[in-house]
Amino acid sequence: MSTHAKFSPSSSSRWLNCSQSLNVTQKETKLDSPYAKKGTALHLMSEDILSGKEPKLFYNDYVPTQKDIEEIVKPYIDYVAKVKGELRLYEQELFVNEDCFGTADALVYDSETMTLNIIDLKCGEGIYVSVYGNTQLQIYAIGAVKKILSMNKPVANVFVHIVQPLKNNFEKEQIKLKDLLPLEKKINTIISNYKNGIFNFEVGESYCRWCPRVNTCPEILKQAQKAAREDFLTIPLNERLDMTPAIKIFIKVTEEEAMNTLLRGGNIDTYHLVPGRKTRSWIDEKIAYEKLWPLLGASKVVETKTEMLSVAKIEKEIKAQKLNIDLDELIKSEATTVVISKIK
Ligand code: SF4
Repeated sequence: MSTHAKFSPSSSSRWLNCSQSLNVTQKETKLDSPYAKKGTALHLMSEDILSGKEPKLFYNDYVPTQKDIEEIVKPYIDYVAKVKGELRLYEQELFVNEDCFGTADALVYDSETMTLNIIDLKCGEGIYVSVYGNTQLQIYAIGAVKKILSMNKPVANVFVHIVQPLKNNFEKEQIKLKDLLPLEKKINTIISNYKNGIFNFEVGESYCRWCPRVNTCPEILKQAQKAAREDFLTIPLNERLDMTPAIKIFIKVTEEEAMNTLLRGGNIDTYHLVPGRKTRSWIDEKIAYEKLWPLLGASKVVETKTEMLSVAKIEKEIKAQKLNIDLDELIKSEATTVVISKIK
């Protein structure tokens, strides 16, 4: 993977709206999370396999598990393999210009139909990443078209794809070449403004949460303070709606700071951590399966070939079949999270 561009495609939804997010000090820079480490490793492993190389046991200091391979790497490789085209490039650095560039996971070009496909692997299971209106992929598309044209190959059709196996997300969108020009123009204007010290603030709920400045952002603070100080209900509804992203982000940042303080053993007056909501699960899925399938029917107790239905779903099934089965000895109930609570 390449060095990181200041105007990186992956954070483009943020800087295309709020160029102040680029004005980051050293103190505000976020460290790579363990999830990023895993993502990088699975991308590198996929690249090796797609390029016909023997996959390694570990990448950097992450060892891909069998689960990672079956649930993420394999579905991605299968998907890419099905995309038609004779020119296949993996982990390609693509440039809009020298300030805005990024690495696309897979490019597949079919000369017969002059079709270019840009495929992006997402390893996360938390947030669903949509392909529609995705500026990261649109920026890759600009760079990919430039790259293919530089190889003297014409491009008539461009498709961008997201492969996010843990969300069962395999979306694809056609991008019109004429729609890429205004985006490139906008990128060039933002870069030129940045170099001339011209920035704008624009609060947005979807991207501020990932901004390295979110904890110290003066615009969020300003808007949240304005909402807190004035008689909020006297403000016209449209202005109150304008303020809601900043208020929500301000609350979220405050809660995150409090959680991190308490998790690190710090002290917050009158607040402490308590176990969160309890969840019920099977003590041993195999034992639960052996006991329940003769009573309910084999197809009624499994979600997939290898996974039992949840306790709640089995209870629903027992009710539907009007049976009287005691599950107590098969289930455990435990809190898997902690929450902040006021000391009473
Ligand atoms: S937190 Fe939001 S408004 Fe503040 S700099 Fe970042 S993106 Fe802009």
